[in-house]
Amino acid sequence: MFDLSGKTALVTGANTGLGQAMAIALAQAGADIALIGRTPATETLNDIAKTGVRSELIFADLGDASTISKIVPEVIEKFGRADILVNNAGTIKRNAALELTPDQWDSVMDVNLRAVFFLCQVFAKQAVDLEQPGKIINIASMLSFQGGVRVPSYTASKSGVSGLTRALANEWAQYGINVNAIAPGYFDTNNTAALKADKKRNAEILGRIPSGRWGQPSDLAGAIVFLASNASDYVQGITLPVDGGWLSR
Ligand code: NAP
Repeated sequence: MFDLSGKTALVTGANTGLGQAMAIALAQAGADIALIGRTPATETLNDIAKTGVRSELIFADLGDASTISKIVPEVIEKFGRADILVNNAGTIKRNAALELTPDQWDSVMDVNLRAVFFLCQVFAKQAVDLEQPGKIINIASMLSFQGGVRVPSYTASKSGVSGLTRALANEWAQYGINVNAIAPGYFDTNNTAALKADKKRNAEILGRIPSGRWGQPSDLAGAIVFLASNASDYVQGITLPVDGGWLSR
């Protein structure tokens, strides 16, 4: 039920952090992996090679709207198919709402929401044309549920990801495409390095996590394989928190 052999998964932003861990987990479950990103992903490619599946980097800057439509065709040309899409790449700009600039708004929305929608669209079109099922997993955030402080464009984008996930599930479930999201809690990656380095915020964050620790990227392995596999065929439109209990407090 959890076996992904013979499938191809596209994972955006898999050179580091959560994307790297999810790409490796999908490879361990048997999927070939197309790493979509703008930075060489040597470490991820080497780790995936150890699992025996195929992987390759498809170069794309997801902030550049003109590249989005080329990604899925290139994956199909190189791998022959595209079954699973993980929209992981994301960016954050910290600034007070009174000071946030148009560029800090646009650069976050372009990568975290615009690229996600249009990549979902191209992926779903090919699945519908081929009458083939598909799995889309978008990476949301605790700020899909909460407001956050000093990250207004990030909160808007991640709340958008959750809403978009529901909207697309409603339209595409009829084609056998599952659209779901994972909302990671506080994970130890580049994205949260500034928070972790702030002693006061670090202590506040740890004090609210029932599991008593920051998440490690490998903590997402079970959720991503579940949502990418036949085990989740009747799961639609959810945003699954993987947060050590943060939202339960
Ligand atoms: P990270 O280590 O900073 O990784 C972000 C990834 O996104 C990198 O691979 C980065 O590539 C890629 N990316 C950013 N802008 C891009 C662009 N224009 N084109 C292509 N790739 C781009 O952060 P992370 O924590 O693993 O974050 C992964 C996802 O999880 C993000 O969507 C983030 O919002 C979400 N998330 C993280 C946490 C957490 O606690 N860490 C919690 C909730 C949600 P480059 O290396 O080339 O910049």
